[in-house]
Amino acid sequence: MITNQEDTIVSKARRAGRNALDENAGKQLLASYGIRVPQSRVAKGLADVDAVMNGLQLPVVVKVMSPDILHKSDAGGVKVNLQSAAEVKSAIEGMLNAPKIKGARIEGFLVEEMAPAGHELVIGGLRDPQFGPLVMVGLGGIFVEILKDVSFRLCPIARIDAEEMLAELKGVAILKGARGSKPASQEAIIDVLLKVGGENGLLMQHAADISEADINPLIVSDTAAVAVDARFILG
Ligand code: ADP
Ligand code: MG
Repeated sequence: MITNQEDTIVSKARRAGRNALDENAGKQLLASYGIRVPQSRVAKGLADVDAVMNGLQLPVVVKVMSPDILHKSDAGGVKVNLQSAAEVKSAIEGMLNAPKIKGARIEGFLVEEMAPAGHELVIGGLRDPQFGPLVMVGLGGIFVEILKDVSFRLCPIARIDAEEMLAELKGVAILKGARGSKPASQEAIIDVLLKVGGENGLLMQHAADISEADINPLIVSDTAAVAVDARFILG
């Protein structure tokens, strides 16, 4: 069942004439399904920074919020590991002067806590016109972009499907801690896959109003999975 809170997130975006949820709204939607997201606040501008940082644990990340900017890092719109309000302010000043950000509609700056270090995965979804929602998982970065190491299933998926999806990835050994890296918690990944693609998951519940979903990345440590970037296309 779709709760009032989720309905507000999606319908608010629609009323505002948007065809996508902004990062902040996307993360609120994920959180309403019990998926962990970083603690975050929106600063409208430099004057808000001190107030916004109150209650956030350092270090933090700052990200530009703009409907015109899809790839924030490419535009110079992401700064990680900031240790103080002063560093946050100078990161925002830098963004306001970045060529690709200057001319964009800026809706604010998302200030958020850093996720614990871990492996970067991608969990996504799309809607097939005939079969309905599909859920996808892959390893982040070059694994998805260049090697296309991803696996897909039709929703709803059960636990066994989520396990198989992970086992199918060519890079699965990396998640298990090959080459000296720490293992990523399989349980935490499966949990997110089920919350996104399972029977009562986000994609099934929102099959009518979400056409694409992208958590990129989901940062998975040996104990937790945190969705640090989220994008949902409405329609
Ligand atoms: P975009 O994909 O639009 O460039 P992201 O929000 O995905 O922007 O941020 C870019 C990268 O910065 C992420 O892939 C991740 O490596 C890092 N990052 C972003 N937010 C966090 C966070 N809260 N904690 C840790 N790392 C983060
Ligand atoms: Mg991203």
